[in-house]
Amino acid sequence: MNSNLDQYYERVKELRALLNKANYSYYVLDAPEIDDAIYDQLYRELIEIENIHPSLITDDSPSQRLGGIPSKGFKNVTHNIPLLSLDNAFNLNELEAWYARVRKLINSENKSIKEVNNPELICELKIDGNAVAIRYENGILTKAATRGDGKTGEDITNNIRTISTIPLRLLLKNPPTWMEIRGEAFMPNNIFKKLNLERKNTDQPLFANPRNSCAGTLRQLDPKIVASRKLDFFAYSLYLPEDWEPTDSNFKKPNSQSKSLEFLKNIGFKVNITYETKKNLNEANSYYKYWGIEKDSLAYATDGIVVKIDNFEIQNLLGATNKAPRWAIAVKYPAEEKPTKLKKLIFQVGRSGAVTPVAEFDSIELAGTSVNRATLHNAKRLASLDLHYEDTIIVRKAGEIIPEVIRVIKEFRTVDSQLVEFPQNCPSCDSKLIQEENEAITKCINFECPAKLKGRLRHWVSKGSMNIDGLGEKIINQLVNEGYVKSIADLYKLEIDSLLELERFGEKSANNLLIEINESKNKNWHKQLYGLGIPHIGEANAKSLSKNFHSIEELNAIAKDAPENISNIYGFGNEMKDAIIKWFDDSKNQTLIRELKEVGFSLKESLDLNDNLNQSNIFDGKIFVLTGTLDSLTRDKAKEFIEIAGGKVSSSISKKTDFLVSGEKAGSKLKKAQELGVKIINENELKLLLSEKTKFKNE
Ligand code: NAD
Repeated sequence: MNSNLDQYYERVKELRALLNKANYSYYVLDAPEIDDAIYDQLYRELIEIENIHPSLITDDSPSQRLGGIPSKGFKNVTHNIPLLSLDNAFNLNELEAWYARVRKLINSENKSIKEVNNPELICELKIDGNAVAIRYENGILTKAATRGDGKTGEDITNNIRTISTIPLRLLLKNPPTWMEIRGEAFMPNNIFKKLNLERKNTDQPLFANPRNSCAGTLRQLDPKIVASRKLDFFAYSLYLPEDWEPTDSNFKKPNSQSKSLEFLKNIGFKVNITYETKKNLNEANSYYKYWGIEKDSLAYATDGIVVKIDNFEIQNLLGATNKAPRWAIAVKYPAEEKPTKLKKLIFQVGRSGAVTPVAEFDSIELAGTSVNRATLHNAKRLASLDLHYEDTIIVRKAGEIIPEVIRVIKEFRTVDSQLVEFPQNCPSCDSKLIQEENEAITKCINFECPAKLKGRLRHWVSKGSMNIDGLGEKIINQLVNEGYVKSIADLYKLEIDSLLELERFGEKSANNLLIEINESKNKNWHKQLYGLGIPHIGEANAKSLSKNFHSIEELNAIAKDAPENISNIYGFGNEMKDAIIKWFDDSKNQTLIRELKEVGFSLKESLDLNDNLNQSNIFDGKIFVLTGTLDSLTRDKAKEFIEIAGGKVSSSISKKTDFLVSGEKAGSKLKKAQELGVKIINENELKLLLSEKTKFKNE
């Protein structure tokens, strides 16, 4: 065996052992050990290696077997027609490749079929339940079986009889001697949640998902328990004797999947009505995308769509492999979790000094984005994961949540691998790290730590604060490493010569950056406040604070003398109040305030309305109405300003209203003002009117 094959051999062995173990937990115990998406990816890896090196295929490989082993508690049923699985595509490119294969095959097999070049498709939702085969004899339900290994299943007839959406007698006048219906038994989401809650309350192990709880229910020996769990069933395929024809003129023997679904509905089955026939792949893609968004609103679980060739003649022509029909493919939705190999573990120091373990690995596609780093949050999490160097880790990214390492596949660990340990000293400045009592966070408390300074600078130039586009992470790192910047205020003292010393800076780009830095001094008060990086004060809180306190001095004084005014702000609490007090108490932060003022920051509401108005009565006789949320003023403050200037604030719109001041999420008043032709202004325009007295008087 050459060394390359050696490597594959080891990997195949690992994969086989893990997948076989997973299969047992999944199919026999109904208690999966790993997530389906992870299983699918590991299975896919196995198939890929076996395809390249068929000599590595063994009889016990999971690729050589379909589904589970029939359990002992039930009688066996031999499937007259094998009950197959489906091939999987994990993205639209793989769906396209399947369609190309199908077309090529039809072309090579039979040119007399009309649709040969563009066979029509039918798209259905892939219900995440369990396949069931139900046999009817002369229209009466006689046998129902699980898929088992595809050839032999378990006799679950009595359990299936308890599902109220499965007819015991078909609505057909001349039923054939036999008929087989296949479909998916499933547990609706609300029943699943209720069942798990009951199990939790009675200290029983929870089911991992609706599919496993449905499988566990179908294998209950007591049909009364099955009945109490209220399973449901969608029928999706139909097998009829070749020589049978309906006598009832309302029925026609179906010659396509779409007609089969109609037929199934008419003889008494519940069919999932979301299916749609599609003329081409583009249409199928739209269906996939549509349900990718809408699937979470369904009452049952679905993990993808199934695309099938609609026409039965073509289906028959294409046939099946020993595992799945060639005329259908399941297109699964992108995984939110994936296994990958840990390449490097770094300990990142944030602006507050918090040290976060971060895993680095080769890029993987996750929930539609490319990911190559994932957080492990803190020392406690790292310890609980028992992470070793070169471990296979499971990375999760759901929605907007940052990617995180959620598990380790210990089965893949080599014997001599080393445990990853949390450092004692700061990886950036080497000072001793501390663990605050009752806090999960390990911190570097050295204010001068370069990593913390870089973090503070990144925060200061970020979108929500100064929004200095040209100051990316790489430039910040260079500025700090070269010693040009030792504090936020130093950014405003930068000289062109220093920038020209840095990588990739020319005269023009250096000048542009200096202009951008200088212009940032005019940013709104709430953006300056946010940039200071007070713990717990994110963008929204900085906005609320800035509306209530119009300068850093005012906020400083309140923090010192009447901090309850902070915790009384809507949405604030003691934690934020304490964080603000602590921040102002720190002399380093007082230095920061002083330095920012020295370089030209106002650190206050840019328009001092009280000064400008000077009791000038510029709004004399004018009636204002306020609606929606204003950007930087509270309603009370806006009302106060209008009244100081001689205006009146009314609560309802009428023809007499002179101005509607409209903010975010304006409601019905805005509509009414538009109907009545009342002048509508925003907060900035109100401020402008208040400050430009003469202009307004002349209007
Ligand atoms: P599958 O779940 O990928 O899909 C095939 C099944 O889809 C069919 O047998 C059928 O029952 C069902 N289906 C749902 N809607 C359908 C529709 N409209 N038309 C046709 N069929 C429809 O494959 P599988 O063989 O049932 O199970 C294998 C899968 O089970 C794996 O891909 C994996 O996700 C999961 N699994 C997980 C573990 C684990 O440890 N987590 C272990 C083994 C298997």
